[in-house]
Amino acid sequence: GATIGILGGGQLGRMLSVAAARLGFKTHIYEPGATPPAEHVAYRLTTASYEDEDALIAFANSVDVITYEFENIPTSALDILEAHRPIRPGREALRVSQDRLTEKSFLQELGLKTAPYAAVQTQDDLTAAVDQVGAPAILKTRRFGYDGKGQARLQTPDDIPQAIADMAGAPALLEGFVDFTHEVSVIAARGLTGDVACFDPGENVHRDGILHTTTVPATLTAGQRMDAVLLAARILNELEYVGVMGVELFVTSQGLIVNEIAPRVHNSGHWTQNGCAVDQFEQHIRAIVGWPLGDGQRHTDVVMENLIGQDINHVPQILRESNNALHLYGKEEIKEGRKMGHVNRIKPAST
Ligand code: ATP
Ligand code: MG
Ligand code: MG
Repeated sequence: GATIGILGGGQLGRMLSVAAARLGFKTHIYEPGATPPAEHVAYRLTTASYEDEDALIAFANSVDVITYEFENIPTSALDILEAHRPIRPGREALRVSQDRLTEKSFLQELGLKTAPYAAVQTQDDLTAAVDQVGAPAILKTRRFGYDGKGQARLQTPDDIPQAIADMAGAPALLEGFVDFTHEVSVIAARGLTGDVACFDPGENVHRDGILHTTTVPATLTAGQRMDAVLLAARILNELEYVGVMGVELFVTSQGLIVNEIAPRVHNSGHWTQNGCAVDQFEQHIRAIVGWPLGDGQRHTDVVMENLIGQDINHVPQILRESNNALHLYGKEEIKEGRKMGHVNRIKPAST
């Protein structure tokens, strides 16, 4: 049987590993951090750093294909790995999505709508950027942001000094505030032969910058749903993408605006584990090994709720209610803002 290499041993790596095992594959996880959630479900674990060239080469040579659960893998490590085994999704998807500036210009060149934006390094840049995109606006670090970290909101130009201080010198991007009614995401997959399959768009609600719930079906007209799926497919095709991608969208009276893309399985796709015959994790594994994709058809309504920090204390109640599918990540230490697990609350499909 083939072995799949996964960079990153968090909950996404863990659930990819379980899906791979279900399809008869072994996984080798590369994760420098201590006690990663994926360690108990992986066949092998390497805990070396991304600077350790020998460990990277040994890892690559022990697997047939390499994938990842996060987009901020150092370029130097990718160069070493790619000399030995294919990396899927490919480098172009990583290059585009690692930097919010590159990502926005890529999306605009594709003809897709984004928030108005301007690159910011200094306070003078930010003053000019606020003139250009207006206020309110959000200043975001160009790289490494997740769960709303590395962001500062500006209500008025008076907030400029504080926002610049919050960036601590990191290259940033100012985004005009999008007046959306709600947020949705498309979890899309593209296979080795170029076939594309999308899951039904989910409606996302955030709490304190972190995804709280994803509900399917989302509140969308048939036209919006079609638009969401078609624009996601365009992104994947342009990148000659192989694997699963999350495409986050704002729904506005002006149409769908792309917030960001994630070149990996996505938290807002966790509902597929109990809403579809083939979930996003199996879909990703199928794609990267060159198997045919599942069709993504949804067979039931689902509300996915993240269990963050102390939410883990709701588990006994969740277990008492029928139709709740519980997914825990095996994390020992409870921390504020830490994703401990999620629950998929299912209902018979309304279609
Ligand atoms: P993730 O954990 O999804 O990777 P992130 O840290 O990359 O999150 P974003 O997705 O950029 O952050 O922003 C988090 C949330 O903040 C969005 O889902 C949305 O609710 C809000 N937001 C971000 N950018 C804008 C914008 N330009 N206008 C209005 N709201 C925004
Ligand atoms: Mg993000
Ligand atoms: Mg986001």
